[in-house]
Amino acid sequence: MTVDVRPTDPHNLELVANVHPPDWVAPSPAPRYNLVVIGGGTAGLVTAAGAAGLGARVALVERDLLGGDCLNVGCVPSKCVIRSARVAGELRVASAFGIHVPGPVEVDFGAVMERMRAVRARISLHDSAARFRGLGVDVFLGEGRFTGPGTVAVNGTTLRFKRAVIATGSRAHRPPVPGLAEAGFLTNDSIFELMKRPRRLAVIGAGPIGCELAQAFRRLGSEVTIFHTGSHILNREDADAAEIVQRAFHAEGIRLLFEARLARVDRAADGKVLRAETPRGSEAVTVDEILVGVGRVPNVEGLGLESVGVVYDRHEGVTVDDRLRTSNPMIYAAGDVCLAEKFTHAADFSARTVIQNALFLGRKKLSVLTIPWCTYTDPEIAHVGLSEEEAAERGFRIDTYVRPFAEVDRAVVDGEEDGFVKLHVRRGADRIVGATIVGRHAGEMISEVTLAMTAGVGLGRLASVIHPYPTQAEAIRQVGDMYNRTRLTPRVKRLFAAWLRWTR
Ligand SMILES: Cc1cc2nc3c(=O)[nH]c(=O)nc-3n(C[C@H](O)[C@H](O)[C@H](O)COP(=O)(O)OP(=O)(O)OC[C@H]3O[C@@H](n4cnc5c(N)ncnc54)[C@H](O)[C@@H]3O)c2cc1C
Repeated sequence: MTVDVRPTDPHNLELVANVHPPDWVAPSPAPRYNLVVIGGGTAGLVTAAGAAGLGARVALVERDLLGGDCLNVGCVPSKCVIRSARVAGELRVASAFGIHVPGPVEVDFGAVMERMRAVRARISLHDSAARFRGLGVDVFLGEGRFTGPGTVAVNGTTLRFKRAVIATGSRAHRPPVPGLAEAGFLTNDSIFELMKRPRRLAVIGAGPIGCELAQAFRRLGSEVTIFHTGSHILNREDADAAEIVQRAFHAEGIRLLFEARLARVDRAADGKVLRAETPRGSEAVTVDEILVGVGRVPNVEGLGLESVGVVYDRHEGVTVDDRLRTSNPMIYAAGDVCLAEKFTHAADFSARTVIQNALFLGRKKLSVLTIPWCTYTDPEIAHVGLSEEEAAERGFRIDTYVRPFAEVDRAVVDGEEDGFVKLHVRRGADRIVGATIVGRHAGEMISEVTLAMTAGVGLGRLASVIHPYPTQAEAIRQVGDMYNRTRLTPRVKRLFAAWLRWTR
């Protein structure tokens, strides 16, 4: 089976040569593997490499491109396009910093996409079939399917296993809007193939993927309209944080249609017409391209899961316990196909959990992992742990400390004042239970809080961590200072005052 990635240029040829080499010769299968992994995205690659590194005989089966969504049609290409868009955005506001760009900013969309393809091809070396063979993994390129207890078939070959891992990931949900399929639409699978910038782009869905790409395309020069069923963007995020990003979207000229129910899509002479009902009346918006970003569905079909007694749900994915074991004790799952948190780092760490549990009788639990995330809009929103609502649902009483970037010297110096650091602490326990950072570098900053939560470091101690001045991360230390000030009770204050009077 050969795989094409469009456009067929030297970068994409290099990508394919790395992650689905057309001339790949499948190895002779071992009599029995410790582990057969179906799916070669992040979850599958991490499982295979980790297990082989520990001496296991491992087979990895991938039907499309090794690296999965993240490398090929997810994190890597989206962050490349976002990087170019950020440059364009910076140039448009350059005069505020005393720098004058002669004339309007011109975007060479073809060059933006070519840079993306070049970077993706370069990074693909990490996930290449040859590299994994070098790590001792038997790589099979083809569709994997369970055929009975202890067997997986790929390209007519039978692989026998002691344990197997389902790491088949997820794909874009296609909403059943009348006329949408006929009119044609893009998903994350196809948007990175574009060679020409759409003059007018509709984005259906204001979740992370929709918002990141809507802002990027707006900055690259497209007129962007977002259709969203909710009443604000990024429903899953802290509402104050989402509002800051939403303000940025308005300021950049992104049109937002909230509580919009798409009635149908029609093809017209001058484009595709999206017809929606909103509380403010009917809307008809004509565009050149439509991007669908309304959630993910797990890849559970065609795997023969019924034949091996693996229970799954078409929407939620493969059912697993806290140790990532499926209803068949010989078979585990990792990554998007079974997790609510559909992130590359979650796929990675679920895979590490699986290696220990599947091969070494480990009892590692998924629920002990502290999984942060970041949405790479500008400003970014990064989050870890519980939100205020989730803490309330669990009956935790919390205190919340907020430091706006407008009060952080480095953010003021950089002209990046929109945003804040917000930390939730369990009342009376100095235990950080969650945090949201909205700001230009939120994704880089959240790891300090994640480390504190993972290592059980309280907010009071974060105040004693010396941060270089001036940095935006000082905001975290300053939140620690705020917390410590609250510990200065009236009684302690009275004692301090008495001591100072006495020693004067
Ligand atoms: C546009 C976009 C941007 C994203 N940005 C980020 C980000 O910035 N940060 C982040 O953390 N996450 C991001 N994600 C999410 C991230 O890409 C996924 O969480 C991650 O790829 C999940 O890894 P996985 O291994 O579980 O699944 P996948 O990457 O989907 O890999 C599954 C693999 O299994 C293969 N497969 C499926 N069925 C079979 C079969 N029967 N036989 C053989 N092979 C099979 C597929 O071809 C695929 O290669 C983004 C996603 C998208 C779509």
